[in-house]
Amino acid sequence: MDSLIPPGAPRAVVDGTGTERARCVLAPNPSPMTLDGTNTWVIAEPGSTEVVVIDPGPDDEGHLRRVLQAAAAGDRRVAQVILTHGHDDHSGGAARFAELSGAPVAALDPAHRLGSEGLTAGEVLAVAGCELRVVGTPGHSADSVSLLLAADGALLTGDTVLGRGTTVIAQDGGLGDYLRTLDELRALADEAGLRTVLPGHGPVLDDPAGVLDFYIAHRQERLDQVRAALAAGARTAAEVVAVVYADVDRALWPAAEASVRAQLEYLGEAGK
Ligand SMILES: [Zn+2]
Repeated sequence: MDSLIPPGAPRAVVDGTGTERARCVLAPNPSPMTLDGTNTWVIAEPGSTEVVVIDPGPDDEGHLRRVLQAAAAGDRRVAQVILTHGHDDHSGGAARFAELSGAPVAALDPAHRLGSEGLTAGEVLAVAGCELRVVGTPGHSADSVSLLLAADGALLTGDTVLGRGTTVIAQDGGLGDYLRTLDELRALADEAGLRTVLPGHGPVLDDPAGVLDFYIAHRQERLDQVRAALAAGARTAAEVVAVVYADVDRALWPAAEASVRAQLEYLGEAGK
């Protein structure tokens, strides 16, 4: 965790934003962990009779109906639902949305698939008149993927890169994987000429390479702080948090502790 909203930070306008082929429908589940709420993305080539929905979001009937309405605008049908990962704020509404839309749900983790064969990292999906490349981006969680919408120079990142702050390494993720993922995405930013990040939470970002450079530097900085706290005598994850996150709201310390545990695990492995 490091995805901390600075006190008093204004809620950004995310709902309805996006690119030519991608539009955000913001879910009403704001929190320190989900920022403004979960961004559900509706993707289609202009004029297509089909759409793809990325991350239906939490199981909130009003939100799912808004997504369906945005998806169906212009008499379109939902051809496919894709999950960037299985966490509940992204996938909780998937079963209900599949019921409402009749569309199958694809995910890297078989446990989250519904009527679909799923996804494979590296494959290119041709849906709703668009090409979406599935990019394996483990780290935040083991099952995280990002989706490259090359026609818009856009990368849908789920929780791998957020629109504000930085990302949490969840219990089912890993920092070693995450650092590799950031390096790979940084290379992709140049290769694919990325112009836009469409994150799972927070506003759209228009400098993917710059954001990834910041994420990579931030991770190294946090690791340096954890090393320093250990050198100063901290013995447990909780003790490290009390030093490194001293200036952060205590309500966020439990989440910070999970992140510190991931860093301690990573440093332990690196030290062997
Ligand atoms: Zn999330």
